[in-house]
Parts: sequence; C-alpha cells; structure tokens
Amino acid sequence: MKKHMAIIALISTFCISFTAAQQKPELKVFISVDMEGITGIVHGDQTTPGTAEYADGCLWMVADVNAAVEGALAAGATEVVVNDSHGSMRNINPAQLHPRAILISGSPKPLSMMQGIDASFSACLLIGYHAKAGTDDAILDHTISGSVVRAVRVNGAELPELGLNAAIAGYYGVPVVLVSGDTAVCRQGGEILGKDIITVAVKEAHGRLAAKLVPMGEARLMITAGVKEALGKVALVKPFKIAPPCKFELEYHVSAQADMGVMIPGTKLIDARTLGFTADDYIQGFRMLRAMIAIAPAR
Ligand SMILES: [Zn+2]
Repeated sequence: MKKHMAIIALISTFCISFTAAQQKPELKVFISVDMEGITGIVHGDQTTPGTAEYADGCLWMVADVNAAVEGALAAGATEVVVNDSHGSMRNINPAQLHPRAILISGSPKPLSMMQGIDASFSACLLIGYHAKAGTDDAILDHTISGSVVRAVRVNGAELPELGLNAAIAGYYGVPVVLVSGDTAVCRQGGEILGKDIITVAVKEAHGRLAAKLVPMGEARLMITAGVKEALGKVALVKPFKIAPPCKFELEYHVSAQADMGVMIPGTKLIDARTLGFTADDYIQGFRMLRAMIAIAPAR
C-alpha cells in the first residue's frame, strides 16, 4: 500500500511539473533593443558613439526600453531580460536601466541581437527596430550592416532583421508579440509575423533621415500599453519558424565582398555579388550568415 502511495505521489509530481513546463507559468520576457527605431531618432549621428548627439540617443533608447519593461511588469512578467542589440551593443547604461531588468551588454555574441534567448521565455519584444535595406520612407533602413548587405533571403523570402531575429526566437518556440519603431518597420512586422502581433509606431518617416515624431511622453505610454496588451494575448501568436532545410542567400553591395565570403566552404556564387548556402539548422545558418558579413570588407 505504502509502495503504491509513493508511486502515485511520484506520478502526480511528474504530471504537475510536466503541465507547468508546458504552460510556462513564469512569464519570462526577452527584449531585443535596436536604436534606429527608437523614439526621436532620425539620423546616424544619434546612434554613433563619438558624436555630439549620441548621448541623447542613448537616453532616448533606455527610456523606450524602460517603458517596455514597465509594460511587461504590469502584465505580470516574472523576469525581463534586455539584450542591447545596436552597434557596439554597449549603448544602454546599466545604471539607467529599469532596476527589475537584467541587461546583456557588449559585442560580439554568437546570437547577436538575440543573445540570451532560449525555450524558457514566454515572449519576445523587438524595441527600436528598423525596416530592411531598400525600404521607402524608413528611418535608417538597412539589414544587419549598411555597408555590406543589400539583401538577405531565406527560402526565397527577403527578410529584415526583425524576421531573421524572430526566426531565432521561433527556433526556441518563443513568439515575437510586439515590434516598435517607425511606421515602415511596423508594416513589415505585421506582414511577416501576422496580424495578431502588436506594433507601436513612434514616428513616420519622410525619406531616410527625417520623420514626424510622436511626442516622447506619448510614445512611451504607447509602448507600455502595447507591451501590456501583447503579453496579455501571447497564446494567439504563433512562433515564427523557418522550416529546414534553410536556403540562405546573401546579396552584398559589391562583388569584392562576395569574393571574400566564397572562401568559406559550403558557400557558392549565385551571381557576382550574391552567395548562397543551405543549412539544416536555422541557428547554424544564421551564424554562418553573420560570419560571411563579418569578413566582408566595407565597400
Ligand atoms: Zn541598429
């Protein structure tokens, strides 16, 4: 009898912990934060260390992030991890970050803008993002590296950073539920990730280096409210998964850049400035892509 009780107790403990793991009762939120789509930013001088305007850009960046953290906590987040995802990835001053948030700072890191994500997270937020290279009326449009990349395609579809990074989250079963930035990146977010995500447009671009700005206080209230709403309906959003085999194409700006990338085994020239390769695992393919971009000379 005692033995039976012990077995029943063991089985019910297993069932409870299995159910808990399935439902992710902890609401862990991962935030990847870029800079070009931050409230107020319209020019590279505001995102580049060593310029007179960079310090302001950093203040605006941490303010948008803190607004997102507030929204996450209001939705019941039990842990919030913020990955600084722009340039040197040392733009967020830890002393200015919300005291409840955990910061991943610095670069390089293997998963770059998504470093730190894993299957324990319930949701991912992309704050301060920008549209892909070649988008009309989009503040500082580019894809990963403005001087190297003209386009990245995976299984035939050209993707902005938001799509490439959402596929990393999706690999771990984590949905991207919110994108903030200009109206152009919000449009691309909806097209790629579906109508159930929340997008928060904090500016409307007029060309590449000018925008009509939502007043800063209002923009941050919109971010907080948007995050709270998005985390309230996580179950509606499917993780963005790219089914293997993953056929990557990297179109460089100039052929000299492709000439460097093609030295890596497994890559092949598609045309003078475009390389292709196939990966059975999306994460391995993404890392390959990053390496091909990193070794390319600036044009
Ligand atoms: Zn950036």
